[in-house]
Amino acid sequence: MKILILCLIALLAGWHLYIGYRDYKSTDNPIPFNVLTVYDRTTYKKWQRYHKEHVGLSMIEKTVSSLLLYVLIRLNVFAGIAPGSGVYGPMIAVILFDSILETVVDVIFSYLSMGIEEKYGFNKTTMDTFFMDQLKSFAIGVVLNIALMSIFVAIHRAMGDWILVLFAGLILLVVLLISFLFPYLSGIFNKFTPLEDGELRQKLTELLEKHGYRVRDITVMDASRRTSKSNAYFTGFGKTKTIVLYDNLLKALTTEEICAVFAHEMGHGLHRDTLKNQIYSLGSIAMLAILMWLHARTPASCTPFGFEGLNYGFIYILTGVYMSIFEIGYGILTSRAQRKAEFRADAQAVDEGYGDALVSGLKKLAREDFAQLSPDPLIVRLMYSHPTLSQRIAAIEKRKAEKP
Ligand SMILES: [Zn+2]
Repeated sequence: MKILILCLIALLAGWHLYIGYRDYKSTDNPIPFNVLTVYDRTTYKKWQRYHKEHVGLSMIEKTVSSLLLYVLIRLNVFAGIAPGSGVYGPMIAVILFDSILETVVDVIFSYLSMGIEEKYGFNKTTMDTFFMDQLKSFAIGVVLNIALMSIFVAIHRAMGDWILVLFAGLILLVVLLISFLFPYLSGIFNKFTPLEDGELRQKLTELLEKHGYRVRDITVMDASRRTSKSNAYFTGFGKTKTIVLYDNLLKALTTEEICAVFAHEMGHGLHRDTLKNQIYSLGSIAMLAILMWLHARTPASCTPFGFEGLNYGFIYILTGVYMSIFEIGYGILTSRAQRKAEFRADAQAVDEGYGDALVSGLKKLAREDFAQLSPDPLIVRLMYSHPTLSQRIAAIEKRKAEKP
């Protein structure tokens, strides 16, 4: 059992290194002709250095965290920090210990990654914001993990195998609640102000009304506090449905281009893509619940790792390892569906008459985001949630030609 887990951890580390290596190598791929004009020569050279630094750093991070987990499990460290026979105490000790270690690794590498962003002029995050963000994420993560696990344990002890049904229902409820509350939760990290009246707001409202699409508000997020990159998204559902535009987007794009990006986002809304993405994540949560249940009903599953009996916190960590393997396969399926959804959303923007504006907008955004123009095709197929810029532009041009 222990050997199997250690092998899986090593296998995962090897996989990440292989993907990282392919990504690193793809930096020097030739640029597709329809995106040749995105960067000039000097900027492209700069992008290549930037990309290589990021890929290198993330390869080191993945290796460090895999190695850390390998050593901790190999030496039965988790059992060492959570002795005793209680249920909740040892569980919380293991989760807390794991969260602290993970956060330490994460803070170090996020800091280094911020250094790269700084070097290339993208970073807008101040030290205060950085540490406050890390602290908030840590606190929210720990509280949420311990709370959910405690509920899992309490129900499991009271109901045995019936937990699976109940836990699935509970998770569903929490996920719905979070997506319902997301517009408010994101207020912890950012400030949102309603988009001011004017030509843009009027055009966007017209687009929404044309399709009978109701939203609570169109808001602008102060993303420029952290990054110079741009984005737009739909969030919440039902009565809290909100459209969020990054303030960077408003600065970088023309009114016409913002409408194009907006029409794309509306395409997602009309096809219920956000809902589909939530269903995908529910699928992986269901898998997580099943794996945890399988472990929890075999009390002997923790003893090879030095525990005297069942430790729910450790089950959570073991399940994390299985989930990483599962997510690779699951990601291949869901990312393919997501890429299809992106093409469909682009087609929506073309049909609204924003084809050309979308192409020029996407090129600008790619430039702003310092995006990769010729990623490794295998990596795109395995894990990209968006098609490449070149693929998108080709599809937009084709759609435009079909619908004069
Ligand atoms: Zn999209």
